[in-house]
Amino acid sequence: MSDLDDVKAEFLKTLDGAKAAGEAEKLRTDWLGRTGRLRKLTEDLGKLPVEQKKLRGKAINDLKVALEAAIDERLKSLSGVKAAPVDPIDVTIPGARPRYGRRHPVYATMDEIRHIFEKLGFEAAYGPEIETAYYNFEALNIPLDHPAAEPFDTYYLDDPDAASRPYRYLLRSHTSPAQMHVMESRKPPIRVVVPGKVFRTDPADASHLPVFHQCEGLMVDEGVTFADLKGVLAIAAKELFGAKTETRFRPSYFPFTEPSAEVDVTCLLCGGGGCPACKGSGWIEILGCGMVHPRVLEYAKIDPAKYTGFAFGMGVERVAMLKLGVPDIRHFIRNHPLFLRQW
Ligand SMILES: [Zn+2]
Repeated sequence: MSDLDDVKAEFLKTLDGAKAAGEAEKLRTDWLGRTGRLRKLTEDLGKLPVEQKKLRGKAINDLKVALEAAIDERLKSLSGVKAAPVDPIDVTIPGARPRYGRRHPVYATMDEIRHIFEKLGFEAAYGPEIETAYYNFEALNIPLDHPAAEPFDTYYLDDPDAASRPYRYLLRSHTSPAQMHVMESRKPPIRVVVPGKVFRTDPADASHLPVFHQCEGLMVDEGVTFADLKGVLAIAAKELFGAKTETRFRPSYFPFTEPSAEVDVTCLLCGGGGCPACKGSGWIEILGCGMVHPRVLEYAKIDPAKYTGFAFGMGVERVAMLKLGVPDIRHFIRNHPLFLRQW
């Protein structure tokens, strides 16, 4: 069978000279195809005796398998690819989930507060973020040169010595100026809720930001009493923090309400039993409120002998921190995606 060995040697030499995949594939046709060299070798088989025919047939077949393998090996080395090609579409891989946007937790909370008061018959109203000193302070019974004005200190938009005082422009430091705009533009009965952005000269720390949000409420009508205020806020607190939430009113002072109160709700974490979050008291302060000061009604040209009203205001970030368990108010402005994606 030395002729077959010669054939093999010749083939391997030729294959070795193939420098591209196309050349190696052409050898497959030339040598192993229908009219190839190996086919010609089998043509003489019929003339051989049976025993020899069997042996030679097997030898030719073995040669064919060896040449096929040699071509495949050569193709692999020419393409430089050792592994089998990867199917470009794998339908079993989970799809890429698109990232949906969502409401910022502060704005979601502000909407929630507004909805609660809308259900109680309050209508949403909005005021300008740029105010005059008159609306931010004086019309709300806050004397500008009085210590009572200090917590409401804000950013002025013009010269501090401007002769135009008290009509200087500033960024509102609370949503209460919007109360005055509402009372000036419509007559009682008035029931409005005012969500919005406010500004203070507080440096940012774990519980303060120079820009934050408030939600203000105002109701003015004949015969409105402190009992109405207590009832509205007790219901709102249950809606906002859960049906088991209790409220507590503590006497306080605001220039624009008389009498005034701070409102606490039972601690969301311990339910009133006392824990580190509520400093052991079982209560957490959430808002300030009171009966609208008669002088404020007079500024708005509403007769305080005929009408009474109540007002309240809460910090939206503070409510969001309590509801969502956020320990530091600055997370709301850092806006890290991992933080925001929690809700
Ligand atoms: Zn607690």
